[in-house]
Amino acid sequence: MDAVKHLSQWATALPPAPPRGNAHRALDAVARRSRSEKQAIRLSARADGAYSERIMNDPAVALGFELSLPEWAAAELRALAGRAFATVEDRVRLTISLARANFERDTGGPFGAAVFDEDTGRLVSIGVNRVVPTRCSTAHAEVMALSLAQQATGTHDLGGPGQPARQLVVNWCPCAMCCGAVVWSGVRSIVIAGSGPELEQLTGFDEGPIHPDWAGELTRRGVRVVDGVLREESRQMFLDFARSGRPVYNARKG
Ligand SMILES: [Zn+2]
Repeated sequence: MDAVKHLSQWATALPPAPPRGNAHRALDAVARRSRSEKQAIRLSARADGAYSERIMNDPAVALGFELSLPEWAAAELRALAGRAFATVEDRVRLTISLARANFERDTGGPFGAAVFDEDTGRLVSIGVNRVVPTRCSTAHAEVMALSLAQQATGTHDLGGPGQPARQLVVNWCPCAMCCGAVVWSGVRSIVIAGSGPELEQLTGFDEGPIHPDWAGELTRRGVRVVDGVLREESRQMFLDFARSGRPVYNARKG
């Protein structure tokens, strides 16, 4: 009750609710009430029910959200999960093809990621950008891949006790948000196709205030960084995205 009382102080922007429980207590004593009083009680109970229904169905109130892969990517993951991608080139190639398929199928932006067991190359999860379809600005490919890996392995910490070293692979340098997500995920290494201004220059996507020494910051926190694997292939994919004329959802345009 204390929690409810405490939280209610933040609810001032909502329409005032009829006092909860009053209607039920009053109905217990309904036989003793006059006709006008009974009418007032019925109206009060109806108002309480209508209020609850209105809040539950109010599109401005959300009590949870779900992020999921598009159908084609889910089928890819079912087919590929557990298979070994021996080299870092194989792993990056997968993320570039995921990114390309994602924009060509109009299921999100041109970004793909995957989590592997570092030593064996066993594929644990994949991710593609889902920002616009899921109405969620945090649904970047890296967040999708890391979150799905955590669900698949049953732990929030991919570097926790008993876990094999995990590797995140992405088709370009993670944005400001995803650099943080990498730190919290527990992965031991990250492999990217490239870094630098080309992504923003070619596509117009805003990558945010990335730390100037992002690679050093990751390394100091136990995440090894491998940069520049299939850089030209990834650059070409961004160029194809730009030429396709598809929208850039977070362009700040100066
Ligand atoms: Zn990101």
